[in-house]
Amino acid sequence: MTAPRSVPVAIVGGGMAGLLLALLLRQAGQRQVLLLETTPLQDDGLPLAPSFDARSTALSAGTLQVFDQLGLRETLLEQAEPILSVDVSRKSRLGQVRINAAEEGLPMLGAVTENRWLGRVLLAAVARVGGIELRAPCAVRNARRQPDGYLIETEQGESIHCRLLVAADGAHSRVRQAFGLDARHQDTGHEAIFANIELQRDHGGVAWERFLDAGPMALLPLPGRRMALVWTGTQRRMAPLLECPSEQFIAALQDDFGIDRLGPIARIGSRHRYPLVLTHAIGQVVPFGVVVGNAAHTLHPVAGQGFNLSVRDLALLAQTVGDSDTPGALTGLQRYHAARAADQQQIVQASRLLPELFRATWGPFAHSRQLGLVAMDLWPRLRSGFAARAMGVQHA
Ligand SMILES: Cc1cc2nc3c(=O)[nH]c(=O)nc-3n(C[C@H](O)[C@H](O)[C@H](O)COP(=O)(O)OP(=O)(O)OC[C@H]3O[C@@H](n4cnc5c(N)ncnc54)[C@H](O)[C@@H]3O)c2cc1C
Repeated sequence: MTAPRSVPVAIVGGGMAGLLLALLLRQAGQRQVLLLETTPLQDDGLPLAPSFDARSTALSAGTLQVFDQLGLRETLLEQAEPILSVDVSRKSRLGQVRINAAEEGLPMLGAVTENRWLGRVLLAAVARVGGIELRAPCAVRNARRQPDGYLIETEQGESIHCRLLVAADGAHSRVRQAFGLDARHQDTGHEAIFANIELQRDHGGVAWERFLDAGPMALLPLPGRRMALVWTGTQRRMAPLLECPSEQFIAALQDDFGIDRLGPIARIGSRHRYPLVLTHAIGQVVPFGVVVGNAAHTLHPVAGQGFNLSVRDLALLAQTVGDSDTPGALTGLQRYHAARAADQQQIVQASRLLPELFRATWGPFAHSRQLGLVAMDLWPRLRSGFAARAMGVQHA
């Protein structure tokens, strides 16, 4: 029997997290990275992976910095819209928080791009830099621990040995299971509808975050007069909104959002649904293995933090592994995990609690929430802290 092929690093999952990590590892000096993705690429090289569906993503200033270090920021911004301000409000309640880039002394707070474009930019870079072998379609069936790494078995019948195995294979990660790590799944009973809308007037680069009794919604600016809508609520509330005629959907949206904020909506694109199951891996590192991206934490999309949090993880992971000949050494992986734990915990908690906090309509809780919004609007230093966190440039 011939010995299996051996690579220093193998990443399972070619979504946003997997592709970005491959690029960061190459930049950090790893000579060879193998990426295994179960979905095929389209003929024109467009990614089909679930990360790159019809959604859009708000990229924080910190994430844009990481793309800058990879030399990808300018290309990414060719089809992205700068966020000039963020507006947080609660329907039928006092208080509104407005965070402005200009007040923070910044050209933008972040930028919004369609996931398809993000995928194109990442895939083109992967093809360009060399040293990254992307296999798609290629599904990993199992991974078995060896004395010096992991042995991966693919559905295609291949065996590959690697010294570091990265689980970037999404919330239901098979590789995480192969590591023997559990995950906590919380079915919120809620789902998100996402769709693009087109306004009759300019959006002015404002990202809106609005909390409703049924759940939060976000409207993110896209190039032109388009905006990306993420509207969350119980399955009972959202199901009819997915199917109803456009006019009815627009009327419901304007009712929840307040027509004065946006002006008339000219058009609505196709609607998609996404069940909101939150996942948090219990433990993220084992000898020769690490869990990242959605496989490590799948968040409520309310604050647009999931990918931004992962980018901070991935940047530090690549820095920790560097050009090491023993990239799977447990001490390095543990150091990485310990350094990322506080930021991860805070964002995971916040993304769990925020919708609950804003949903509560009773007594002192509701009162403190309103006070919180008002205080934030009045107290620039507190607001700056909030902005810094939202932008992903302050993690502590
Ligand atoms: C509605 C919505 C809006 C969002 N908006 C934002 C936002 O504005 N800002 C933000 O920061 N984040 C946002 N997020 C979060 C963001 O989308 C996720 O953080 C991101 O998609 C995670 O990417 P991933 O690569 O970790 O996982 P996935 O996208 O789940 O990718 C996993 C990949 O692994 C592959 N795979 C699975 N099993 C195998 C196998 N056995 N072998 C090989 N390959 C396999 C899959 O095909 C897939 O391509 C949003 C999420 C949602 C749902």
